[in-house]
Amino acid sequence: MSEGVLKRYASRLPLTAATPALTIGEGSTPLVRSRSLEREFGVGALYFKLEGCNPTGSFKDRGMVVAVAKAMEEGMTRLLCASTGNTSASASAFGAASGLETVVLIPEGSVAPGKMSQAVAYGARIVTIQGNFDDALRIARELAAYEERFALVNSVNPNRLEGQKTAAFEIVDDLGDAPDYLFIPVGNAGNITAYWRGFVEYHQAGLATRRPRMMGMEAAGAAPIVEGAPVLKPETVASAIRIGNPANWAGAVAARDESGGTVDAVTDSEILEAYGLLPSMEGIFCEPASAAGVAGLIKQARAGADFSSATVVCIITGTGLKDTPMAEQLMTRPPETAPPDMREVARVIAG
Ligand SMILES: *Cc1c(COP(=O)(O)O)cnc(C)c1O
Repeated sequence: MSEGVLKRYASRLPLTAATPALTIGEGSTPLVRSRSLEREFGVGALYFKLEGCNPTGSFKDRGMVVAVAKAMEEGMTRLLCASTGNTSASASAFGAASGLETVVLIPEGSVAPGKMSQAVAYGARIVTIQGNFDDALRIARELAAYEERFALVNSVNPNRLEGQKTAAFEIVDDLGDAPDYLFIPVGNAGNITAYWRGFVEYHQAGLATRRPRMMGMEAAGAAPIVEGAPVLKPETVASAIRIGNPANWAGAVAARDESGGTVDAVTDSEILEAYGLLPSMEGIFCEPASAAGVAGLIKQARAGADFSSATVVCIITGTGLKDTPMAEQLMTRPPETAPPDMREVARVIAG
């Protein structure tokens, strides 16, 4: 039986005797060894952390379980978030599971349909904001300050990052030590901040002998950290990282600098290449944003970086089923039709 994040890492989370034992089965996601990209790009050992295997299909569930449990403990009755889609899916699920009303603010026209249908299914109040994600987050922060019983569950909520750091614990628990490199997509920069915190904590506790270089990847059209200034109109196919002014900017910079890593940008075509290679060469179907870390690894390997004796982990942040229209980009041969006759089908296949 799945124990969930609160139980598995109770001693390392900000829990009290009054924190409800909430779980919908999040965490303990697979860390799988690469079958072909490892060889293709000359990596010593390459692993993928499949965060799309969380109950709502993204890593957001790890932090959300802590944020919602703490909100309940504090007597909050409503959850509020701004979202490019996955935060709202996760907040709505935990809201439904714990009997709290959930209000989600979504930037108009830029949320993948699968994520939208999750918020619908879980019964959230959905408000479409006529602006981008950064507008939605600004409003959510103002609204939470204005109306008392709203628990803001975006990654500005410190409990979110506490929960998300458990993914770093799992990687060390699985590998027996920290990897040399961690490649990870960067949007609002909460996740890279949380992973770094997790690795630092485990290292300090003597549970890892080293800490990885943190390799954060923004999308080129939404790369404020790389450019050193907010991007007013962020643009990328990778909607989950289409963010122009990350709330955890400073955390990403600290993770980069303290780890000797980098925050770099990958273009949409580099993201889409990795998005296509993962399912076709590894059997891993993720959403475009989730491929940004792998795109960064490929970019660096092609530029001559030597990973031949390194252990590398790429975080695959969410499942491809979130954004099925995007998968049409991957179609090399359209589905074919045949009459209900074996020989006819054989003829079509041979063609
Ligand atoms: C939220 C999200 C990201 C970005 O994570 P941040 O913490 O905002 O940097 C990347 N990929 C997916 C699938 C996400 O849902």
